[in-house]
Amino acid sequence: MRIEIPETCVAALIGISGSGKSTFCEKHFQPTEVLSSDHYRSIVSDDESNQDVSKDAFDALFFVAGKRLDNKRLVVIDATNLSGAARHDIIHLAKSHETSAVALVLNTPEEVCRDRNSLRETRVVETSIISKQTIQLKNALPQLSRDGFSKIYIIADPDEPIEVARTKLSCNKRDEPGPFDIIGDIHGCYDELAELLEKLGYAIDPNTFAASHPDSRKAVFLGDFCGIDNKNVETLRLVMSMAKDKMAFSVCGHHDAKLERALRPGTSEIVPEFQSIAAQLRDGGPDFRKNVKQFIDSLPSHLEFDCGNLVVAHAGILEKFHGRVSSRIRAFCLNGDLVSQKSEFGSPVRFPWADNYQGKALVVYGHTPVPEPKALNNTICIDTGCAFGGKLTAYRYPEGDLVSVPSRTSSKMV
Ligand code: GDP
Ligand code: MG
Repeated sequence: MRIEIPETCVAALIGISGSGKSTFCEKHFQPTEVLSSDHYRSIVSDDESNQDVSKDAFDALFFVAGKRLDNKRLVVIDATNLSGAARHDIIHLAKSHETSAVALVLNTPEEVCRDRNSLRETRVVETSIISKQTIQLKNALPQLSRDGFSKIYIIADPDEPIEVARTKLSCNKRDEPGPFDIIGDIHGCYDELAELLEKLGYAIDPNTFAASHPDSRKAVFLGDFCGIDNKNVETLRLVMSMAKDKMAFSVCGHHDAKLERALRPGTSEIVPEFQSIAAQLRDGGPDFRKNVKQFIDSLPSHLEFDCGNLVVAHAGILEKFHGRVSSRIRAFCLNGDLVSQKSEFGSPVRFPWADNYQGKALVVYGHTPVPEPKALNNTICIDTGCAFGGKLTAYRYPEGDLVSVPSRTSSKMV
């Protein structure tokens, strides 16, 4: 059995007394990663079996867990976690720190737990409690998928070989130092994209869409690949080919998310613009739409590069969201800081998040077309409206140069 634990998350053990939770934690995690309810009972009362201090023990445990998550550390909670309320608190802890929760259920047979428990030197739990916990676990199992865990692992036999693997978060490219050419919203402007890449020194094979750069530079695309009536198939072929060859990274734009919805089989209520783009992608051949959908599904909300000194996101990102993964962060990165009211014309109103940005990392983003790249507070918007008659712009990292090619469309920026 292989268990995947994201590098930052809350991993909650679930199991009755004697099921092997603490032994499992000792074997697979660092001592500082494991926060055990027994340990916190002893921290607050000098007695690890003192059930009267459970509230104080859990208050202390959750306080430390929150601090670890603030520092993007893994938190493993070694407690029975059999009640819905206990699991609710764990999900709340994860969500409030923009992370996920993984359930590790030790479904060891009751008789085995009872036998192991009776052999313990300290803290022998009464048989009646074990019976009660067994019923609680039986009731909890069908409930777990509704609790909000991102993954649930059920370990029926703790003696079976188990591999616990740490996985990187999708946004973590901190070990990629660059140099990069970060390119703003393309919206199907393939000719301008090819021209810009060539101007930046890339050689592109127009038949295979394979790209190379003599100085090992890599491209970073800020999302929104397609636009109505534009060269979407060619654009996606090039971007996807560069991604496959590890010549480029991409983040997801809000148009890409809408296109992905339009590519789902049997989806209704799709905005006509995306229906038409999805239909146009049939020109790419039999598996093309499936491959595009898979590609968009794989796109992260944002990417951190160069030890966290550079962050890219389609519509921007607050500093507190850097290097974390949650649905709230994804919504922000794709759409910007949408406020609830609409403008007098019915369009969404966005809070200018970059006005208050004070982060150490440079944030490069797109989404909002501007006539010239707009730098503010260690952020820069490089969506220069190529699809609206502006230009397609690249930001060269770490140099900080801007390179543009003019739009070939006659449309005007609105
Ligand atoms: P917890 O109450 O769920 O934390 O259970 P513990 O990890 O404290 O384990 C209870 C007892 O079972 C201890 O004496 C362990 O040595 C023993 N134990 C735990 N896991 C295993 C296992 O995988 N195999 C065997 N044979 N014994 C185990
Ligand atoms: Mg234990």
